[in-house]
Amino acid sequence: HLTGSTNRPVPQRAVFDDIGGLDGPLQQIAELVVWPAKYPELFERLGIRTARGIILHGPPGNGKTLLARSVARLLGASFFAVNGPEVLSKFYGESEQRLRKVFEDAAREQPSVIFLDELDSLAPSRDNVSGDLEVRLVSQLLTLMDGLTDRGQVVVIGATNRPSAIDPALRRPGRFDREVEIGPPDHDGRHAILLVHTREIPLADDVDLMAIAEMTVGYVGADLASLCQEAAMASARRTLDDHRRQAAVGDALPVAAVSVCQADFVEGLRHVQPSAFREQRQVV
Ligand code: ATP
Repeated sequence: HLTGSTNRPVPQRAVFDDIGGLDGPLQQIAELVVWPAKYPELFERLGIRTARGIILHGPPGNGKTLLARSVARLLGASFFAVNGPEVLSKFYGESEQRLRKVFEDAAREQPSVIFLDELDSLAPSRDNVSGDLEVRLVSQLLTLMDGLTDRGQVVVIGATNRPSAIDPALRRPGRFDREVEIGPPDHDGRHAILLVHTREIPLADDVDLMAIAEMTVGYVGADLASLCQEAAMASARRTLDDHRRQAAVGDALPVAAVSVCQADFVEGLRHVQPSAFREQRQVV
């Protein structure tokens, strides 16, 4: 049973401690990628076919990159990141060589994790593209995936917010045959993410992160990270304002007494729009 479940503890949570929420996906990724790498004999004995490639899918800003990096860290693996659109434009004409080189480097430096961000642009469904380059890239990627050896230690993690736009041949067994959904955080997820991003921020006693989680429906991880920064900025503004108004010339700023209060978060909310709604507005 490889689909993972949310009600078991996630191993090595400490390594993932800069990730808020996502317990279900973390468990799935542990089973698909981390366990086979750490306990190869067990997987071999049980005849479990390990995944060469997995796809993380979900809207931007939910932590797909963060997750891939953390997996590499957990495995003590080298991390190779490839951005789909960048390979297509920056290395135009050399995109295939570029991709080959990444796989070669990763094989040399195994254990390694190759992260293919925006996989849909690197490997779009060949039925829907007219460009010769895209078609060649898809076949190159298929060849590279097929070239990964069964018990090798190269894991390929693709990220996309449009899994259906990826060429179906890439999603067959032995290639990217497992998919993990990284959805937007719910209330508890947002609370967990706020806890991560306020770890380094001195919070006043009135700060209620549960209440902020309630106020931030539609905010993804990246939005919540910005919100915490904006709240800290609001505190900086307020502190400097007060100081200018109240202190005598030459008085030192009472930095050690400064903290971020609930009103600073409310102020921060005015500066950070939730991605979910931002995207909707673009559509309208
Ligand atoms: P994109 O598709 O735009 O690359 P992504 O899903 O890969 O998005 P990340 O780049 O991993 O998202 O997230 C951006 C930033 O948002 C992270 O560096 C982190 O600061 C914050 N973040 C996102 N999700 C989480 C999370 N679950 N826990 C903590 N921080 C998060």
